[in-house]
Amino acid sequence: MSTEYNGYVTEERIEGADDGPLSDWTVAVKDNISTEGVRTTCGSDMLADYVPPYDATVVERLTEAGATIPGKTNMDEFGMGTTTETSAFGATDNPAAPGHVPGGSSGGSAAVVAAGDADAALGTDTGGSVRCPAAFCGVVGIKPTYGLVSRYGLVAYANSLEQIGPIAPTVEDAAELLEVIAGPDERDATTRDAREALRASDERAGDAREQENGADYEFADAADGDVDGMSIGVPTELVEGADEEVVETFWDALDELESQGASYHEVDLPSVEHAVEAYYVIAMSEASSNLARFDGVRYGQSGGFEGDWNESFARSREDGFGAEVKRRILLGTYALSAGYQDKYYKKAQDARAWVKQDFDEALSKADVLASPTMPVPPMELGESLDDPLQMYLADANTTPVNLANLPAITVPAGETGDDLPVGLQFVGPAFGEREIIRAGSALA
Ligand code: GLN
Repeated sequence: MSTEYNGYVTEERIEGADDGPLSDWTVAVKDNISTEGVRTTCGSDMLADYVPPYDATVVERLTEAGATIPGKTNMDEFGMGTTTETSAFGATDNPAAPGHVPGGSSGGSAAVVAAGDADAALGTDTGGSVRCPAAFCGVVGIKPTYGLVSRYGLVAYANSLEQIGPIAPTVEDAAELLEVIAGPDERDATTRDAREALRASDERAGDAREQENGADYEFADAADGDVDGMSIGVPTELVEGADEEVVETFWDALDELESQGASYHEVDLPSVEHAVEAYYVIAMSEASSNLARFDGVRYGQSGGFEGDWNESFARSREDGFGAEVKRRILLGTYALSAGYQDKYYKKAQDARAWVKQDFDEALSKADVLASPTMPVPPMELGESLDDPLQMYLADANTTPVNLANLPAITVPAGETGDDLPVGLQFVGPAFGEREIIRAGSALA
């Protein structure tokens, strides 16, 4: 089944239980999610031979639900990237737009779904890594509310921002997969019992539109395509500045929703102009701390026995990490260092609080917010790696959502004149998963 577009790092089947809601599904898993006995590389040379001794909670839930895991998917090294080109195992091509990047960092997961080599996949989204590849590959991706899905067994990049999320060909399939992985986990203290919050959110929307209330962690039935009476806020800041064809496709999709009974109006998110900066300061700071464990002693390839331990650690990290990971460890360490912490890290936290406030305000006047998922269509392979700043800016519409801990879905909205997929993102209030699923299902 080996894929010519390099979707998998490791193809090793993990069989699921005989019966269960996913018993006829194959679900590929991103290679930063631990699988007992099957190597988990995080797209890094550092972990090229690492075989976890336990399963992540989401993997346990998948196999208990009957899913078969066909393999571990390619990704930007430790989740750091927007194109899947920083993987130590080579870039992944985009099956929906050959010669272009599949997006990142969960590019392998989106690619195997787009190519039909898996029925669905899990990715992780720290600043857009489920939504960007899903949008670039023309499939559906959900970034859940922070705390809905357990991160136990996920190799951390930036813990305060990331969630594991589903990627699938349709909104209903993505919602069904979310049903299986969602819910509290005593091994991850940041998860919570969200049933009350999910019901409350559904009721708020339902009051106006007489929808039925969602039961416990049920999402698939919300994919009913009924947007009649739904109020959609469009943050101008996330539309202005996007590529012309992306903007056209976006407005066409909104017109389509309007013809189905939804209405839209403009809303302001003034703080999002600082979101990318704040995101990268926070993500790199957390990464610099999280990645300290890869020193060849605790985890990672050995630096050998020459010289003292400092030299050995340095050799392990010099050889094991790629350029983007090193850049981020250096910058993150700098941002956290004495004397600079207030200037960078603390400021970024202030900006994060401000972004959160703006979203709350905008969502008090709309059921969901809509924007293009990515401001640009998929870049050509090899085009963007030389300019990290340009690559970071491509995350303008996705990173604010992680800063605010909110749920978001990307659905295919159409294509550019060159047949490049364009994704549309809906953002909901905390635990408003059912509302964004409903909105998305009107389009895909
Ligand atoms: N592109 C972003 C980054 O490089 C997002 C990555 C992610 O969500 N894992 O940090």
